[in-house]
Amino acid sequence: MVRTPRNSSLQEVREASRRVGDARYLSEADLQVLALALELKRAGLHPLIVTDDYSIQNVANQIGVNFTSLMTYGIRFRFNWILYCPACHRKYPSDYKFKSCEVCGTKLKRKPLRKTPL
Ligand SMILES: [Zn+2]
Repeated sequence: MVRTPRNSSLQEVREASRRVGDARYLSEADLQVLALALELKRAGLHPLIVTDDYSIQNVANQIGVNFTSLMTYGIRFRFNWILYCPACHRKYPSDYKFKSCEVCGTKLKRKPLRKTPL
């Protein structure tokens, strides 16, 4: 299921992250995960965020959402991703802000760059 958090929930987690001093370490995607977890919790569910990111854990704690680390699930590697163009093979950093190749316009794909042992 794909869900987008409401603006009001995003605003709430943004404020919570400011209170605990983690605001600048969190990406928009991080905030969305936290906001969704908050919404699920308020809907009477028991969301669990799986992350090794201390800032996310810290804010989750602040808003009363449970979290656990990847190790708990026996996940032993974290992948670092790289984006690449399947047509002209140009490489892009994983945080590249466009979805298609700047040279040929082909939609970019991603692949693991390396595995980092946790
Ligand atoms: Zn290309």
